[in-house]
Amino acid sequence: MENMLETVEHVAREEGGGPVTVIHLRIGEMSGVNIDALTFAFDVLKKGTVAEGGRLEFEQVPLEAKCRACGASFHPDEFVFLCTSCSSGDLEITSGREMQVDYILLDDDSKTDDSEVARTDEDGEVEADA
Ligand SMILES: [Zn+2]
Repeated sequence: MENMLETVEHVAREEGGGPVTVIHLRIGEMSGVNIDALTFAFDVLKKGTVAEGGRLEFEQVPLEAKCRACGASFHPDEFVFLCTSCSSGDLEITSGREMQVDYILLDDDSKTDDSEVARTDEDGEVEADA
């Protein structure tokens, strides 16, 4: 979490240093990230940083695997890791384990795209009531 805030402060400085309003994160389905815990930690740690007035937004990244035997890409169901095309167990997880800062919105950015700010996750309901 501290690393994420460092990334956010670094990017905010590069983008002009304005206060951060939104931090958009991509959270892999199999990343093990607990969104409630992450939101709570963020609300504590953001105090005194450029992200103090900001909030987190989450985008869930589905788990995806690629079969090394036949090259098929697919979404493993119920965490059964067998290729859906050839039943090989020799798979590479290509996405779904990440937790990354996708983009950051700053308050003083006149070029801010409002439609992006207003966008909500399919899951919604991840905002913490202060
Ligand atoms: Zn296969």
